[in-house]
Amino acid sequence: MGDVVVIGAGIAGIQAALDIADHGIHVHLIEREPSIGGHMAQLDKTFPTNDCSMCILSPKMTDVKRHPLITIHTCAEVEKIEGEVGHFLVTVKKYPRYVDESACNGCGDCVLVCPVEVYNRFDAGLGVRKAIYKPHPQSVPDIVIKDQEHCIECGLCYDVCGLDAIKRKDEEKIIMIDASSIVISTGYTIFDACSKTQFGYQVLPDVITSLELERMINSSGPTGGKIRRLSDGAVPKTVVFIQCVGSRDMTINRPYCSCVCCMQAIKNAILIKEKNPKTDVIICYMDIRSYGKGYEEYYERAKGMGIRFLRGMPSDVLADRNGMIMQVENSETSEVLVLHPDLVVLSVGIGPAENTGQIAERFKIPLEETGFFKPVHDAVDTVTTLRPGIYVAGTATAPRDIPDSVASGGSAAMRAYIDAVRTRSV
Ligand SMILES: Cc1cc2nc3c(=O)[nH]c(=O)nc-3n(C[C@H](O)[C@H](O)[C@H](O)COP(=O)(O)OP(=O)(O)OC[C@H]3O[C@@H](n4cnc5c(N)ncnc54)[C@H](O)[C@@H]3O)c2cc1C
Ligand code: SF4
Ligand code: SF4
Repeated sequence: MGDVVVIGAGIAGIQAALDIADHGIHVHLIEREPSIGGHMAQLDKTFPTNDCSMCILSPKMTDVKRHPLITIHTCAEVEKIEGEVGHFLVTVKKYPRYVDESACNGCGDCVLVCPVEVYNRFDAGLGVRKAIYKPHPQSVPDIVIKDQEHCIECGLCYDVCGLDAIKRKDEEKIIMIDASSIVISTGYTIFDACSKTQFGYQVLPDVITSLELERMINSSGPTGGKIRRLSDGAVPKTVVFIQCVGSRDMTINRPYCSCVCCMQAIKNAILIKEKNPKTDVIICYMDIRSYGKGYEEYYERAKGMGIRFLRGMPSDVLADRNGMIMQVENSETSEVLVLHPDLVVLSVGIGPAENTGQIAERFKIPLEETGFFKPVHDAVDTVTTLRPGIYVAGTATAPRDIPDSVASGGSAAMRAYIDAVRTRSV
């Protein structure tokens, strides 16, 4: 009694879990993926300081792992909740990992011998992983998972593992948790760029998304940090970013701004220029939104580095004999420009996590028209929901950057903590 359940272990959920546990309340942190960390673990640097994303996140992930009052449940989702504030009964379903979590020491010998390579979701599809794998080098927990769908049962990993940690059979488990309050921090999903067919994503090899670029720029990513065309491996001479792909677009019923794409494009444009100063980098935009602390200065720094900001949106990206071609009307000068990019980066918008509707139904909490969770007040209380004892944090309620996600994780933690203390004192 009096524990708190935090659902979703991105930066918002991690912050909420740490803040609650640091105040003496036991937290169950439920994460669907095999490692905690969320999207921040995929990023290279963070704007506007260009700090290494993992260098900030990894110590927090380690703090979560070591915290005596935090129990991490990975490969897990909430199936059902019953009860009310102070006395929720939470049913958690834990998916099979096919690896004994208490036996595996994360040595990775099994990964080395596995002959199967498949699409790597963590690298946004740019790299491959094995059928038995760790999501990334700093995974928490630092153990492997066997992807039973792609495993061919060759048996090599069973033979090499000296700890007998790998299982041929495994099954779902149900865990029941008695909780006083719940924080939902299930984050976001990026817009599927395939639905804007005019930009040629997954048709033209050198059209990539901003998340794919994050993995490409990352020195521990699939290209070792080298920015290359996927078609021929060449260093791109001209990189064009197209902003607001899947944001501020009534034709696809996504009228809202995704909040981080302008700044992430500026960040990645700066990083490209730092790596390859001769590359011509152009950002095609409707408006540049650099609203946060130090953001406008960051934008000015990018301009000072020679990054070109072109106010105008291309209608399409087409293949031509020499690569790609696009036309853009500069709305400030009415000049029509013809660009020949070597690499096109689609700055994809942020939408609600896939299962947000299902969770809202299960938890009996309302959604915004945009599909994100609806807090009681957008101005003065962005973490409380209409259902007492259930709070929302981070990008689960709206697109946000990392500082705002951390702040809302802390805010939700405080509300959940108060419920827990009240439960204990009655
Ligand atoms: C290309 C790109 C670059 C960016 N660069 C920056 C930057 O430089 N600086 C910056 O401030 N921001 C940046 N952002 C934004 C940043 O990624 C977010 O602000 C931050 O990651 C949000 O954290 P979160 O915890 O709210 O969500 P997430 O990171 O999405 O975490 C949510 C977690 O919940 C889990 N989950 C989802 N559903 C369930 C479920 N049903 N049960 C259990 N677990 C579940 C997910 O697996 C995930 O681990 C960038 C975004 C993009 C797309
Ligand atoms: S399963 Fe065995 S071989 Fe593989 S990482 Fe764990 S301990 Fe090492
Ligand atoms: S048994 Fe499966 S996971 Fe293990 S090495 Fe063979 S293919 Fe890979």
